[in-house]
Amino acid sequence: MASDTSRFDLFVIGGGSGGVRAARMAAQRGARVALAEAAAMGGTCVNVGCIPKKLYAYAAHYAHDFADAAGFGWDVGEPRFDWARLKANRAAEIARLNGVYEQLLADAGVQVLRGWAELLDGHTVRVRTEAGLQTHAARHILLATGGTPTLLPVPGAELGVTSDSMFDLEPFPRRLAVVGGGYIACEFASIFQGLGAQVTVLYRGEQILRGFDDEVRQFIAAEMIRSGIDLRLGSEVRAIERGSAGLELTLDDGSGLQADTVLFATGRVPNVNGLGLEAAGVRQGRHGAIEVDTHYRTSVPSVYAVGDVTARLQLTPVALGEAMAVVDHLFGDGRRRMGYEYIPTAVFTHPNIATVGLTEAQARERFGQVAVYRSDFRPLRHTLTGSGERCLMKMVVDKATDRVVGLHMVGPDAGEVVQGFAVAMKAGATKAVFDATIGIHPTVAEEFVTMREPVR
Ligand code: FAD
Repeated sequence: MASDTSRFDLFVIGGGSGGVRAARMAAQRGARVALAEAAAMGGTCVNVGCIPKKLYAYAAHYAHDFADAAGFGWDVGEPRFDWARLKANRAAEIARLNGVYEQLLADAGVQVLRGWAELLDGHTVRVRTEAGLQTHAARHILLATGGTPTLLPVPGAELGVTSDSMFDLEPFPRRLAVVGGGYIACEFASIFQGLGAQVTVLYRGEQILRGFDDEVRQFIAAEMIRSGIDLRLGSEVRAIERGSAGLELTLDDGSGLQADTVLFATGRVPNVNGLGLEAAGVRQGRHGAIEVDTHYRTSVPSVYAVGDVTARLQLTPVALGEAMAVVDHLFGDGRRRMGYEYIPTAVFTHPNIATVGLTEAQARERFGQVAVYRSDFRPLRHTLTGSGERCLMKMVVDKATDRVVGLHMVGPDAGEVVQGFAVAMKAGATKAVFDATIGIHPTVAEEFVTMREPVR
């Protein structure tokens, strides 16, 4: 057993969004920092999350663009999709990003250790490297180990896959069954439908995208169905078997469904197994999530945790914000705070969804009297394409203060549009400020500053 008692100011476990940001920022502030990562640098977002997902969403949108081009006078012939080329190009880009992350850490002076790390106590980490076990002492330890997808406990579940495997499927699934109704389920359904698969979504709930505004949920469900996705609500998988013509799913109503691939997008749990939390006395909550206080400090004062392992808002910018708050708390003036209100988020379905602030139902519950502005229209682009695709834009205003407290969009580049409006909402913009803002014409986004009459 190799042993190293070098003392670090900060030892980060996990080289994903939160861990890399914390390690880099702490080192830039002069701290002696180590980071342990067991897999590819960059974590979920870079390797099997946001980035490859968005690249594949771009790929899928081309299918719609080719179809739309005819109305603008273009004849593009019969498009042919090469799955192997997309996978290879994505893999090359992700490998480049892995290198960028490693370089960023090296440039900042962070000592990177490749291997599985576990806590021995509140100041000691053991890393299982290729060279053997190494033990390191640290003044502070940051747990940023992220989350991991789960399979449903049904017979034959092991025949299915999780989102981690979707980027390298071989061969391309002609028939894809997606189990789940959250944003990851919806995104993969849209992506693979766009790429040419026949997609069935099986969701046990009443409507997909729980937590989003109800009108947004209904609207995107209708758009997904219109684009050809077989969306089955109130539907559960009972069992999966391998048959002669692929995977055979048995559903709760007794009916069957055949698929080449079954994706379980049924939730993620914190990555805490084998992390030594019990040994160190770190308190955990539901599904093993690490409990933290407002400074991201766990029940062990020298141990902190950020990102998905704390199972709060599982988004990369949230992990980054939390990481920077921890570094500021430990090595800065401690004034930086992560605000959880008005965090914008997007769902890269076709069309995209983006949202910031409260749903209409949440706003009614919190403020009582709200005004709702809503517009549902065919975007200019589709006046020539013949596509029936529509766009939904919705704003919720607190009547007492006139403040815009919820803003929702389903339409092209919704994430790009809503990011800007999120700044205004964070700054407390009222409906009067929106009204006084001049639109950019002709755009879809101008609709948000030209909504005059509330619908309720
Ligand atoms: P992670 O990025 O998961 O990093 C954790 C790292 O810790 C991993 O690299 C892991 O290998 C390592 N690790 C774990 N345990 C150990 C150990 N004991 N020793 C050493 N290393 C260890 N978010 C968005 O904001 N926008 C999106 O569009 C988006 N799309 C997504 C799509 C998918 C399919 C998925 C799955 C997630 C998506 N997310 C998205 C969520 C986002 O990826 C996560 O919120 C973010 O990566 C969390 O960062 P993190 O630092 O907490 O953990």
